[in-house]
Amino acid sequence: MIDSHCHIDEEAFNADRDEMLQRQKDGGIEAIVIPGVNKHSINAILDVCRRWRGFCFPVFGLHPQDVADDWQEQLELIHRAILEHTGSDLDVSERIVAIGEIGLDYHYTRDFDAAQHEVFSTQLRWASELDLPVIIHSRDATADCLAIVKEHIASRTMANDKYPKGKCQGVIHCFSGSAEVAQQWLDMGLYLGIGGVLTFKNSRLAEHLSNVPLERLLLETDAPYLAPTPHRGERNEPILMRYVVMKLAEIYNCTPAEVIEVTSANSRKLFRLP
Ligand SMILES: [Zn+2]
Repeated sequence: MIDSHCHIDEEAFNADRDEMLQRQKDGGIEAIVIPGVNKHSINAILDVCRRWRGFCFPVFGLHPQDVADDWQEQLELIHRAILEHTGSDLDVSERIVAIGEIGLDYHYTRDFDAAQHEVFSTQLRWASELDLPVIIHSRDATADCLAIVKEHIASRTMANDKYPKGKCQGVIHCFSGSAEVAQQWLDMGLYLGIGGVLTFKNSRLAEHLSNVPLERLLLETDAPYLAPTPHRGERNEPILMRYVVMKLAEIYNCTPAEVIEVTSANSRKLFRLP
């Protein structure tokens, strides 16, 4: 199993981070992708990835919920870190595998809508310039998020753009939309990140995935958040993805081993993991 979205750098893991990571490795987790949320994430993520070389992989970006009055300064610092940590000559612990998490979040405030839009578009542009995938966070903002990604795809004309034409490389983290929205993301070339929400009692996600091939799904935790049932409400960790795997095996009428094989291959391909 590969966890394509895990906040191991967060405070919730301060007391037992290395112990917890060893447990994941022993429990069959193959790799963990750690997305950034703001400028403070950078060093914390690098610290984990250096100590867990080839097991944990860094990602930097400015999260929409972290877009506040200082967004320009944050973005500049993050851009510098992205440039410093991109390139095939870098060690695997130093090289970012994506830009994220980026996107839109209208849940808590609408005060920074315009700034969120600019921050999102800017980071999408960096990703295509650097040929990196993106990890997209979209909360209560589906229509605008779709529109910005579509606009980005249509406007890409730069000579050094290595992205496949008409597509965006990346994943919609914690996907929970309708079947129709799922199809729109798939058409743009994106993967859907599936985690604990799939196991929640009132979730309709299973039916919304009915036309989504397993080849377009990534497993994720969003740990320490969103632990799957029967651990809902507890601190999440990658090995708990086995409950999500069991549910997916049921939905796709295959074995858990097949779910793991396909989703791991998807993550390896998107993030170009070694
Ligand atoms: Zn996240």
